[in-house]
Order: sequence, then structure tokens, then C-alpha cells
Amino acid sequence: MAETVTNWAGNITYAAKELRRPCSPDAVGALVAGSAKVRVLGSGHSFNEIAEPGSGGVLLSIAELPPVVDVDRAARTVRVSGGVRYAELARAVYGHGLALPNMASLPHISVAGSVATGTHGSGIGNGSLATSVREVELVTADGSVLTLGRGDERFGGAVTSLGALGVVTALTLDLEPRFDVEQHVFTELPLDGLDLGTFETVMASAYSVSLFTDWREPGFRQVWLKRRTDQPLPDFPWAAPAVEKMHPVPGMPAVNCTEQFGVPGPWHERLPHFRAEFTPSSGAELQSEYLLPRRYAVDALHAIDAIRATVAPVLQTCEVRTVAADDQWLSPSYGRDTVALHFTWIEDTAAVLPVVRRLEEALEAFEPRPHWGKVFTTPAQVLRGRYPRLADFRTLARELDPDRKFTNAFVQDILGD
Ligand SMILES: Cc1cc2nc3c(=O)[nH]c(=O)nc-3n(C[C@H](O)[C@H](O)[C@H](O)COP(=O)(O)OP(=O)(O)OC[C@H]3O[C@@H](n4cnc5c(N)ncnc54)[C@H](O)[C@@H]3O)c2cc1C
Repeated sequence: MAETVTNWAGNITYAAKELRRPCSPDAVGALVAGSAKVRVLGSGHSFNEIAEPGSGGVLLSIAELPPVVDVDRAARTVRVSGGVRYAELARAVYGHGLALPNMASLPHISVAGSVATGTHGSGIGNGSLATSVREVELVTADGSVLTLGRGDERFGGAVTSLGALGVVTALTLDLEPRFDVEQHVFTELPLDGLDLGTFETVMASAYSVSLFTDWREPGFRQVWLKRRTDQPLPDFPWAAPAVEKMHPVPGMPAVNCTEQFGVPGPWHERLPHFRAEFTPSSGAELQSEYLLPRRYAVDALHAIDAIRATVAPVLQTCEVRTVAADDQWLSPSYGRDTVALHFTWIEDTAAVLPVVRRLEEALEAFEPRPHWGKVFTTPAQVLRGRYPRLADFRTLARELDPDRKFTNAFVQDILGD
């Protein structure tokens, strides 16, 4: 029966009239082998047409495959099926006394979909979520399974792959011993007088640090520090401690946010901003994010401040995070220690798009790479110049998928194929 398939935010309705949900790995292989065009939909939390298979294409979900979360305590690794969401993965890993090094703001996103787009949390020393992946299992175009691990020279293209190489049915991730985190929120960090040295000190003052602002005034309304309890308590003279529990969007109730006020708790209950028990089925928002070399952070913040009268009316909140450089060819943090400038917009595409364009002009000089899963308008030919290993990825996609079964219009445009 025909259904309407949309992304989580509801701003994208996929051309496919049906979401195919095979229940076994063999059924995935058969479906892929027998289809001309295939895209996988993970948890649907992207805001653009990255998952769109195009008309006549198959939109496939692997959420009905038996979920696998196999922790190897001795090796400190976990093999997880691609459709599992971080909340479920984190609970299982924690139960074995182990930890993932980092998480995104929301734990409800699928593992395969997150690493495919370069999803990240924050932390001067923390790479994107893809950096924990040591092995990827893919159903490739002929329906057979290919495993690519870190030792393989093609691995640089295998994890942050935009879904263009095949169906990621399982991934093996590195783990570490479990740790506890306290969350401390501060308010009103001025932008005036913030030099690059101070910015870096602020962002390095805890394991994971986020700044939030609505750009209605210069400077940051909130600073969230996530301190590992096995690391020193930071001295934080730049802003005042919050007196009530905060939500990153001003005026929203903080009840769904993870614990604050320095109450220690397990890593997976503090690293995301939002509680796993709170599962928003859809969201009244759009998002954009630009990742640029960290050395430009303060100049870029001033460039946004200069257009804040344009930005603020359609903005819910802006979050500033850091991501350590990595070596995934299509990762927005490839080869650059990164500052990530995130924008949660109102859900009005027509009002938001002109502001996105204006923002991109303001940030242009800082070589921004947009988040693959969020709203952007940067022309593909500009983006191609920002990914030095893009040609290697194109070669890999041609090798693994000669008929371009997994390439949609979005990917074709990016690769210039
Ligand atoms: C409320 C909210 C909070 C967010 N927070 C963050 C954040 O903190 N940090 C951040 O960086 N991003 C964040 N994002 C963005 C989000 O992490 C990305 O959009 C991510 O791709 C979502 O994963 P998904 O499974 O929903 O992917 P989808 O949107 O379903 O798919 C994304 C891409 O992955 C591919 N894909 C998915 N599963 C597979 C598979 N099994 N095999 C092959 N390809 C696959 C799809 O084809 C598509 O190309 C957030 C988004 C929302 C809505």
C-alpha cells in the first residue's frame, strides 16, 4: 500500500511510496541485487535529500533486522548492527563496564546513518563518531557482503560514505573503560574581547564543551561543560554558574535535558544534551551546520555577529562545538582541527533558506564544510574543492558500485559524477 515516507523533521517527503523493511540479512542482499537504485534510510534525522532514492528507487530500512550489539570486553570493541540507535548501543556498552568516547546531542540517531554523515559531539580531543569505527560490513551492489577494516587502504572512504557504497549492516567500534561525567552550565560569556587563545582555553576546559547563543545579543547565553570525573575540575572565570536547569533553546522546558548542576553520572547520560527516555518522533525545526578550521573560530563568530539581525529572527539556537581532525576522506572534519557552528532554525524553509545563503556568504572566507545531513546551499563545485580526497572516494564508489546503484542526485552532484 502506498505510504508517505518523510524524514524526522517532515521537511522532506521521499519519492519512494514505500519503505522496504527486510527482516533478514539474506533478504537485504536479495533486495539490493534485484534493484536498480537503492538508498538506505536510517533514523531519518537528516534535513536534506541525502537519503532520497529518486523516483523508481528503493528506500530501504534495516531497522527490522535482528538487532546485534555484541560487546567483546577483552578486546574492548562492540559489533553493532547499522540500524541500532546510539541510545540502545550505549546502554549495552555501559552494561559491560565500557564506554563510547563521545556522543551527539541526541541519542536517538542510528549508528550507520550518523557515521555516514560525519556526525559529531564536542571536545577539543574528540574526533567525530566515525573515528571510533574500526570495521564496516557492507552489502554491496551485487548483494554480497564486503568487510572493510582499518588496515585496508580503502577504509578512508568506508565510514563517512554518504550511503554511497552499499548498505551498512554492521560496524565494529572501539570502546574504552567506562567513565563518569558531570555537566556544569554557565551563563553569559561575552564575545567582545574573546581572542582565539581564550576561545581555545574555554573549549578545552572540559572533556566536551558547547557554547549556545540565539544571536539576539552578541556573546553566548550558555556554556555547557561536560567534565569527566577522572579529569581536573576546571576553573571557569569567564561566565557565571547557571541558577536553574537550562535548555539550549531559550524558553523551552529543561525537563528533557540531561542532568546538570555537576551531578556525576554515567557517560551516556551526560554526553548527549537530551535524555534517551525522551523520544521526539518529529521535530519542529530545521538545522544547518558549518565545520571550519578551528583557527578561524573567533573571526567566524564575529562574521556571524555582524549579520545577527538577519540570523536571529529565524533562529532557535546556535551551538558552537569543536571536533578533532580525522582521516575519513569525506568527513567535514577531515584533516582539520575543527570548530563546528550549528544552527537550529524555525521550521519555515522559505524563511530560513535566504538566511542560510547569507550565512554561507559571511562564512565563505573560512572554508566551511557543511554538515552532510543538514540544510545547506553551497554549490557542489565549491565543496569539491574543500575535500582533497574526494577523487579517491569517487574511485572507490566506482569500484564497489560500478552501476551507481547507491548514488542518488545528492551524491552525484557532490561527486561531480
Ligand atoms: C534533533 C537532532 C539532533 C542532531 N544532533 C546532531 C549532533 O549533535 N551532531 C551532529 O553532527 N549531527 C546531529 N544531527 C544530525 C544527524 O546526526 C545526522 O543527520 C545523521 O545522519 C542522522 O542519522 P540517521 O540514521 O537519522 O541518518 P539518515 O538521515 O536516515 O541518513 C543519513 C545518510 O546515511 C545513510 N544511511 C543511513 N543508514 C545507512 C545504512 N545502514 N547503510 C548505508 N547508508 C546509510 C542514508 O542513506 C543517508 O545518506 C542531529 C539531527 C537531529 C534531527
